[in-house]
Amino acid sequence: MISKWYRAAVICLLLPSAYPGTLARTERLDRFEFSQPHMGTEFRIVLYAPDARRAAQASDAAFKRVRELDSRLSDYRETSELMSLCRQAGGGPVKVSDDLLRVLLEAQKFAEQTTGAFDVTAGPLVRLWRRARRRSELPDPVRLSQARELVGFDKMHVDERTQTVRLAKPGMLLDLGAIAKGYAADCALAVLKQHGVTSALVAVGGDIAVSAPPPGTRGWVIGIASLDSRGKLPRHYLSLRDAAVSTSGDAQQYVEIGGVRYSHIIDPRTGQAIQGRRSVTVVAPNGMTSDALDTAANVLDPRSALELIDSTEGAAALIVQAVGQSSRTFESKRWHHVPKGAPRDVR
Ligand code: ADP
Ligand code: MG
Repeated sequence: MISKWYRAAVICLLLPSAYPGTLARTERLDRFEFSQPHMGTEFRIVLYAPDARRAAQASDAAFKRVRELDSRLSDYRETSELMSLCRQAGGGPVKVSDDLLRVLLEAQKFAEQTTGAFDVTAGPLVRLWRRARRRSELPDPVRLSQARELVGFDKMHVDERTQTVRLAKPGMLLDLGAIAKGYAADCALAVLKQHGVTSALVAVGGDIAVSAPPPGTRGWVIGIASLDSRGKLPRHYLSLRDAAVSTSGDAQQYVEIGGVRYSHIIDPRTGQAIQGRRSVTVVAPNGMTSDALDTAANVLDPRSALELIDSTEGAAALIVQAVGQSSRTFESKRWHHVPKGAPRDVR
């Protein structure tokens, strides 16, 4: 089964950068790394802690939280809270958990800002295109137009006050694949902090969130793969602290039919999968924002994508679009200000 959560379009080098400055620490901190499969992808935690026991305790708690989130937000598990909500589509308002409420409120905000280019009600279309990728044949047009009838953020009513969600039409299907991994990374960082771990990095496929820099460094150095990443070293290195970065593109999840390359990202407004090759890297104050913005920026034309990024506080983006055999690069206004790292910073 091709997992919706699966990705690896970006190669991210998660390395501490050397920095000659010294940070006053009363306790020596060592680097620990943990990895578990969650949400259909590898969930990786790098953290600094005084000893192995405290590192393991903190990471265990973070992974436990991620499992809990998966049981709420997954569209792959029939038993998830999300799927239970979808089964009640066409009925009355349904009480939801804090997590599902937060993610759906945020999703609706981005849907409104992008007038539906980002839309988690796109589930029926996502499923049709997922099957198309498996079979290497385009979705049936009749089924596509039937699916489109069930898609639209105006058909989902999220009420913060009553903590309920109502899906207007039976058959509606929500898909949080474009936002939940970023949220999970944020939540994992929060749990690590509760366990006294303030310097950590959480990587979920192409979504990475970091807290304070590794001791004695300016930031976490993260390499952003070039458009054709196979076997190549990253072209850009960022140095991030208390921030998140998401890179999405179709390096892994795409299908080529009749010489056209179709992405796993869909334009919910037309029902069509995004064509052509593009890599979008978004930096934002948190993972949920960078994840959602990144997907939205893949759907919108580069100019509208940059407008969206520029209008979001603390966000910056780099868009690389393939044009024939070469590529065009677009930078948002704040991209310039994102601290950059370099391979030489790696120790
Ligand atoms: P990845 O999963 O590769 O990290 P994204 O964060 O961009 O990439 O999420 C892509 C997933 O989001 C798709 O596999 C699908 O489940 C869902 N999706 C596709 N198009 C949209 C869209 N326009 N709006 C919201 N969700 C989408
Ligand atoms: Mg995303």
